[in-house]
Amino acid sequence: MFKKLLVANRGEIAIRIMRSAQELGIKTVAVYEETDKTAMHIMRADEAICIGSGPRRDYLNIERIIQAAQSSQAEAIHPGYGFLAENPAFSKQCTEAGLVFVGPPPQVIIDMGSKVIARRVMAEAGIPVVPGTQVLPAGVEGKEIATAFAEKRRFPIMVKAVAGGGGRGIRVAQNMDELVKFIEIGRSEAKMAFGNDEVYLEKGITNPRHIEVQILADGCGNVIHLGTRNCSIQRRHQKMIEIAPAFLPEDLCNTICDTAVRAARASNYLSAGTVEFLLDQDDNYFFLEVNTRIQVEHTVTEMVTGIDIVREQLLVAAGQPLSVTQEDIFFRGSSIELRITAEDPKSNFMPNPGLIELYQSPGGHGVRIDGAVYQGYEIPRFYDSMLCKLTVYGHTWREAVDRLRRSLDSFLIAGVKTTIPYYKQIVTDPDFINRNFDTSYIETHPQLLNYQEEVPPLGKLAILVAEINALGSNPYA
Ligand code: ADP
Ligand code: ADP
Ligand code: MG
Repeated sequence: MFKKLLVANRGEIAIRIMRSAQELGIKTVAVYEETDKTAMHIMRADEAICIGSGPRRDYLNIERIIQAAQSSQAEAIHPGYGFLAENPAFSKQCTEAGLVFVGPPPQVIIDMGSKVIARRVMAEAGIPVVPGTQVLPAGVEGKEIATAFAEKRRFPIMVKAVAGGGGRGIRVAQNMDELVKFIEIGRSEAKMAFGNDEVYLEKGITNPRHIEVQILADGCGNVIHLGTRNCSIQRRHQKMIEIAPAFLPEDLCNTICDTAVRAARASNYLSAGTVEFLLDQDDNYFFLEVNTRIQVEHTVTEMVTGIDIVREQLLVAAGQPLSVTQEDIFFRGSSIELRITAEDPKSNFMPNPGLIELYQSPGGHGVRIDGAVYQGYEIPRFYDSMLCKLTVYGHTWREAVDRLRRSLDSFLIAGVKTTIPYYKQIVTDPDFINRNFDTSYIETHPQLLNYQEEVPPLGKLAILVAEINALGSNPYA
């Protein structure tokens, strides 16, 4: 096993990765930008190296990060999610510098990073894909293809960036005018956001459920799945709440999990990854994309399988086989994860950075916090608005929902607006409780935004601050 690992990320995922490394006896190196020097991942690592003034660009600076790894004598680099995680040049340059990249090889990242190539690979492997086009050529030819596709498949039609991710680069066209317009806008936006202006079309599936399968693959030919997740509760095509398992009928569940393993084999997969599907209202499933990295919502899968996915990634990166076979995987209970962000749900989830005056997270049986903030932390405006993830486990679905409600009731963050009061509404909504949701949930439940902001009375706040200060800052994160 490696002696030292550099984590090329920040926030909760950097800390999450360090935890598994520490359990394996691996020393950890954090990197950070000057604009991020109060971030918690810096304090959690054995050493920390400043890689530039920031903001954001130095977390993307491949040369600096590789230099940091070399100067600290780290043997491997874990990219987390976002930033350089799905950048094939990074994976390649790590290897060329004699460092182990914790993730799949560059060719897999290239192929699966293109939604169009990924769809082709899967279609060739006999896997159903959402009906769609190839990359649209520019000019008249592209317009003709778009018109023919719209006539055949009908609206709505999704205009998608080939290199898109994180919910960005997706637009829904309801008619021909919008389609033409969105292709144009889509191209220039994709160029800016992903450095690649290619777009293509997909049939818009009406009110689908987003179902995905966690995959693990090692270098010895083993590919296994860790079951399903339902990540349908989304805003702006980005997940907010994820659950495991997805509660599919048994036959469908087995088919989708087997398909995901086939998809992983078809792409020569290595390390942890996720195969995403859309399920239409008649339970037909369609391949959507592969994420070649650890995902935000991996925690729910860890809860119901007991497997530490990052530990498996590190074993595989060190050339070892997975520690478990498919037969060793048992599924137990239900898990729910909430992404708690510094955003104002009432203002279309506008980011709301600022000073965290009070931070007290819940605990107890079946409650897991993956956090990266602390009391007194000033949230920089340059980075992701996620403060932490709250993941709960329940022996049954109902128990998980009850535990989530109880956890939210004792979660106290003051100083910035967060999504907590909104989540409190969701966990008491009968549709949520009955798992009656698809990707239209947030839009179709506007009444959940009608909550009163709970401001703890000043006296109570002062007592809490004093109590927490007496404990020392940040005892729970
Ligand atoms: P997940 O697929 O793990 O649920 P998200 O789609 O929310 O997670 O993405 C996780 C993080 O990675 C977000 O911060 C998102 O902005 C970022 N991200 C994902 N894909 C890309 C991409 N292709 N380009 C830039 N950032 C991305
Ligand atoms: P990203 O790379 O940004 O994660 P995805 O292709 O995984 O993009 O799509 C993100 C979300 O957008 C899906 O979970 C779904 O809610 C919605 N979506 C994407 N494609 C379609 C489609 N063809 N029909 C309906 N919804 C879609
Ligand atoms: Mg996706």
